[in-house]
Formats: sequence, C-alpha cells, structure tokens
Amino acid sequence: KSGFVSIIGRPNVGKSTLLNHVMGQKIAIMSDKAQTTRNKIQGIYTTETEQIVFIDTPGIHKPHNALGDYMVESAYSTLREVDTVLFMVPADEARGKGDNMIIDRLKQANVPAILVVNKIDKVHPDQLLAQIDDFRTQMDFKEVIPISALEGNNTDKLLEILKSNL
Ligand code: GDP
Ligand code: MG
Repeated sequence: KSGFVSIIGRPNVGKSTLLNHVMGQKIAIMSDKAQTTRNKIQGIYTTETEQIVFIDTPGIHKPHNALGDYMVESAYSTLREVDTVLFMVPADEARGKGDNMIIDRLKQANVPAILVVNKIDKVHPDQLLAQIDDFRTQMDFKEVIPISALEGNNTDKLLEILKSNL
C-alpha cells in the first residue's frame, strides 16, 4: 500500500523537522531562518508492506517577490498531487492571516486534511486545547493530532493514522 502526503504550513512551524524525524536523517534543511526550504523535498518512508511519500514544502507566506511567489505556489501545487495533507500549525502561536489563507486553499482543493499541532513541548495543555478548538471552528479536519516534531512526541501516532488511511 502506498500514498502521497504533503506537509504544509507557515514558515517555521516545524515541517522540515517532522520530515527529518520521520525519515531519521537530515534530508530537509531545518532552520530558524524563514524560507530555508525553497523547493519541494521528498522523503520516502517504507516498511515491508507500506510506502508513504512525504513532501516537505516551503512555508506559506505573503510573497513579496517572484521567488516568494514561486515558493508559495509550489507548496500549494502539492494539494493537487497528494492523498492527504498535513496542515501544520504551532501550538504556541495564535491562528493568523497566513493560516486563514491556507485554510481557504485547503477547502478549495478539497483534499483530506489532518491538522498537526506541533511544538506541544512549548505549551500548557490548556493552551493546546484552546488552539485545537479555535482551528476546528474554521474547518472540518479529518483528524487532529498534537505532536512535538523536535522531541518525537506522538509522531508514531501520526504515522499510524497515515498508514491506516493508505
Ligand atoms: P519549517 O520552516 O516549517 O520547515 O520549520 P523547521 O522544521 O525548519 O523548524 C523551525 C524551528 O522550529 C527550528 O528551530 C526547529 O528546531 C523548531 N521546532 C520544530 N519543531 C519543534 C517542536 O516540536 N518543538 C520545539 N520546541 N521546536 C520545534
Ligand atoms: Mg522547512
């Protein structure tokens, strides 16, 4: 069984960190600096019976130039190519305009979306629950999963969900 999954979200939410964690090696560049991931980067996760192609994408932001525009559109273009989208948001920052833009595009694309709330190591559980409730008012997600990509908390659960959807 196999499937394609893209990871999209604002810059710096931890998309590349998740891909690296899942792949167990540094394939995507992780950085504090916004826009380090300039292109779509794939990682192929395989077991004996399953294959998931992960696509890491540039952070979605309001583009100021042609390169920015190209990067954002290349992230959105994955919505037409995948079976499932992981929409990643940070637990420690409130929903912003960037997130709302992404939600609009997710609805247009009509692709199954899983809300991945990352950086749970940085917040109190109450703040995490409030964040989840807030995003749920905006869209129906197929699943909602809180993780820490950095520490690897709950990432195995995320993989299980993706595998069960293949
Ligand atoms: P991207 O722009 O979405 O690809 O984000 P990166 O993966 O490059 O990560 C941006 C920053 O957030 C880096 O400094 C990461 O170490 C940090 N980061 C990513 N995931 C987590 C997490 O789960 N917890 C914490 N505390 N930091 C994280
Ligand atoms: Mg990145």
